[in-house]
Amino acid sequence: MIALSAVVSLGDIQVAFEHNDSAHAGPAFRFRNVPPPMRGDAAARANFTLVDGVMDRNSGGLERLNDGRLPAEEDQPAENFFFNAGTDGGRLQLDLGSVIEIKRVSSYSWHSSDRGPQVYRLYASDGTDEKFEGRPKGGNDPAQCGWRLIASVDTRPASGERGGQYGVNISNADGSLGRYRYLLFACSQTESDDPFGNTFYSEIDVVDANAPPTDELLAAQPAEPIQKTFTAADGKYQFTMDLTLAPDLAEWAEQELQPVVQEWYPKIVAMLPSEGFEAPARVTIVFRDNMGGTPASAGGSRINCNIGWFRRNLKGEAVGSVVHEMVHIVQQYGRARRNNPNATRTPGWVTEGIPDYIRWFLYEPQSKGAEITARNFARARYDGNYRITANFLNWVIEKYDQELHVKLNAAARESRYEEGLWKQYTGKTLQELGDEWREAHRVRLGLPPESNEATSGTN
Ligand SMILES: [Zn+2]
Repeated sequence: MIALSAVVSLGDIQVAFEHNDSAHAGPAFRFRNVPPPMRGDAAARANFTLVDGVMDRNSGGLERLNDGRLPAEEDQPAENFFFNAGTDGGRLQLDLGSVIEIKRVSSYSWHSSDRGPQVYRLYASDGTDEKFEGRPKGGNDPAQCGWRLIASVDTRPASGERGGQYGVNISNADGSLGRYRYLLFACSQTESDDPFGNTFYSEIDVVDANAPPTDELLAAQPAEPIQKTFTAADGKYQFTMDLTLAPDLAEWAEQELQPVVQEWYPKIVAMLPSEGFEAPARVTIVFRDNMGGTPASAGGSRINCNIGWFRRNLKGEAVGSVVHEMVHIVQQYGRARRNNPNATRTPGWVTEGIPDYIRWFLYEPQSKGAEITARNFARARYDGNYRITANFLNWVIEKYDQELHVKLNAAARESRYEEGLWKQYTGKTLQELGDEWREAHRVRLGLPPESNEATSGTN
């Protein structure tokens, strides 16, 4: 089956829909009887509002509905809008800004399974009715508060595969659906057998009957995969940067990030050796838009970069955060633990302190991002984590053992880290080193002497 299509009439209004199954769905969303998605249509200049229901946190947001961009694949949450998993749809209002003569409303979706089909009712209003309620919640029948039911859409196939691409076109034989300013999409889940029944809506178009002919509107663009592959200076390590979801960062990534990765990944590998260890030779750097408040993370041989955070920190901490994550890729502390029944667990402050030491004291010492000051002195403990621990490591390295980070890393990677190593390497216990380091900062900052309570103990 290439496509399933149907026309349902409600008065003179026709709802045409078509289904391209997964094998026949392409990123251009082409159908035989439903027009392709457009950009520059009336919806592109209008605002969607969530009236009822909750957006899924992995969804790409309401702007995905009218940004003229299409998913490039069948399972790209960030390129679609969808309601929260486990809920039954919700309501979206589209305000066109003024009353226009609407020629047609078209909606498009794509998913490998139950989130492909579309089930919704479309209401419209010019906003003039005395009873008009612009944002009717689920309990309210829109038809009772100034809205007119335009169409009921249900593209679920009676049998067979549900996955694939769906195109819906709502129009009227006489060329106009009517004169309206507001549209209300009352969406339902397609199934409730599992939490994944809310449709992946990719684009919604509204065509103004008085706009230039449809063929002058621009075809919506698939989100072309943007991947750049390069090797490190010595040719041994290969990197792929994936900027599909952030084309605006591609130039910055190539000019600012790539040279640092090329130079520093081999440096970090050389800096942190251990017997028989080979660092990952292929590393992927993916720019993602579903990382919540986490700026960057690393796992296996992949570095994840939070698009929103990077956009805000391009001139600040963006590149350095990738240096930190590259150290995690080289650390690989989980490996030995899996094969060693006597493995010790490396404390998190060591695992995070080493990347921040390399970042703040070797990669970008000029930024002075890990200083102990009068403001953060209260938190100056050796296990203060991240840049505080980095400062402690730097102090111990300078004062007692130039190779400390190298030795600590090798021990952690082989799952034989334990606190006694500090005494073995420096002649002092961890607590003694921590106290001495803190005291040195206190004196340097001219702060008053501390009582014993404040300096002892690691509670
Ligand atoms: Zn980290």
